Amino acid sequence: MQKELHFFNQIVEKLLIDEEKNPVVKPISTDHVIDHLDLNFKDQGMDDDAWQRLIEQLMDFTPKTASKLFFNQLFGGRQPKAVVGDLLAVMLNNSMYTYKVAGPQAGIEKAIMHKVIQLINYPETADGTIAPGGSMCNFMGLVMARDAAIDSTRNEGVTTKMIVYTSAESHYSIPKNAAFAGIGRKQVRYIKANPLGQMDTQELELTIEKDLNAGHFPFFVNATAGTTVLGAFDTIGAISEICKKYNLWLHVDGAYCGGVIFSQKYRSLVQGIELSDSFSFNAHKMLGTPLSCSIIIAKDKAHLSKSFSNDADYLYQTNTDEFDLGKTSIQCGRRNDALKFWTLWKSVGNNGLEKIIDHQFYLADVARNYITNHPDYTLYSHPNSISICFNYKAVPADKLCTLLYEDASAMVGYGKFQEDEFVRLITINANNTEKDILHFFQVLERGAKKIENNQTIASLA
Ligand SMILES: *Cc1c(COP(=O)(O)O)cnc(C)c1O
Repeated sequence: MQKELHFFNQIVEKLLIDEEKNPVVKPISTDHVIDHLDLNFKDQGMDDDAWQRLIEQLMDFTPKTASKLFFNQLFGGRQPKAVVGDLLAVMLNNSMYTYKVAGPQAGIEKAIMHKVIQLINYPETADGTIAPGGSMCNFMGLVMARDAAIDSTRNEGVTTKMIVYTSAESHYSIPKNAAFAGIGRKQVRYIKANPLGQMDTQELELTIEKDLNAGHFPFFVNATAGTTVLGAFDTIGAISEICKKYNLWLHVDGAYCGGVIFSQKYRSLVQGIELSDSFSFNAHKMLGTPLSCSIIIAKDKAHLSKSFSNDADYLYQTNTDEFDLGKTSIQCGRRNDALKFWTLWKSVGNNGLEKIIDHQFYLADVARNYITNHPDYTLYSHPNSISICFNYKAVPADKLCTLLYEDASAMVGYGKFQEDEFVRLITINANNTEKDILHFFQVLERGAKKIENNQTIASLA
């Protein structure tokens, strides 16, 4: 193993230098990627030198998500203390299902849940787990709600039209999960958003009434803390009132921006969170841990065991129930996604996590100020969002983002809200500075100039 670790250190050092010098990778076309990088297998293995060279080449062509010009997704950057935790999780290779196999690693996960439960003011009855991604957290929320609404579902399956409510701006995992859970995509109601991108609560109530009149069974509302495009926060308090009135489960999908619970300044964006029945967030988004670290908390832990436990004599062989985390998880064998969050959190403390969150909003302010001070820009997003949506002159957002990608200038995506399509800059990389954000706009304007020049040439020809 020593030799491989030495090699690992070498190529990672090289990666860190390369990230600075070449922050964006020139893409290889999908037609060539398999052959160009020799990705296919042969009967004979490779000698170590060739194997190492191949891996280095593979790294050279892999998109760099921790660089200063990666704004394409709802994650980015690198928290070194979290990275070390994740590397250790691989070396230790525990599985989180039993205390016997996970030992103190199970305690780490418990400690994380305990503190998050305090932060969101859930009662002592709450507990949580880690799922493979925010989509799966939403799935777990939905399944718990389904089983809580109609107790026989776990054994008999779904036999009525159970209705799910979510905003038109919510994540695409909601309809997928409705299909997985046997509820069906057609039973998902998409509630329109107001101009701020938040669920229209009047429309929510009207839709519920309509379903009740039709003899359907409303049972679940998904509210979003940080919508995928605009980064908007649904109004949890108002939605909760409706849920209480009609006896519906309220899940808060905080995959993107649920991390605001760690900030004194921004936690009011999820005001009323304690009124929900389940809450999830991705530490691999705002908190900057490596992918993936997705936490779901249920206000009443009985729902976790009710929906996710099963007897298994071949697995549970010690009397350590509370620490046998397999009894509340969606998986059997489960990698340790808790350690990376713990190593970071222990290192920087609650205050350090708060700083990470606040810095992202600061960078968003920098970007918004730049845009509002430059008349060539149109801004579409609102304050208190780390998704900065804008257009530059009349340059089409899709064209601009694709050119920046193909030119290896910057990684940034585009999105749509109602009638508008725009560039969506995500200021989630807490390693970035004001300078990096301003540099991004220079890069973008250079790209836009290229498109404008080409258009001029085309119109002259
Ligand atoms: C990212 C995101 C998800 C999905 O999380 P994954 O970890 O990618 O599965 C769900 N909901 C929202 C609002 C998100 O932004």
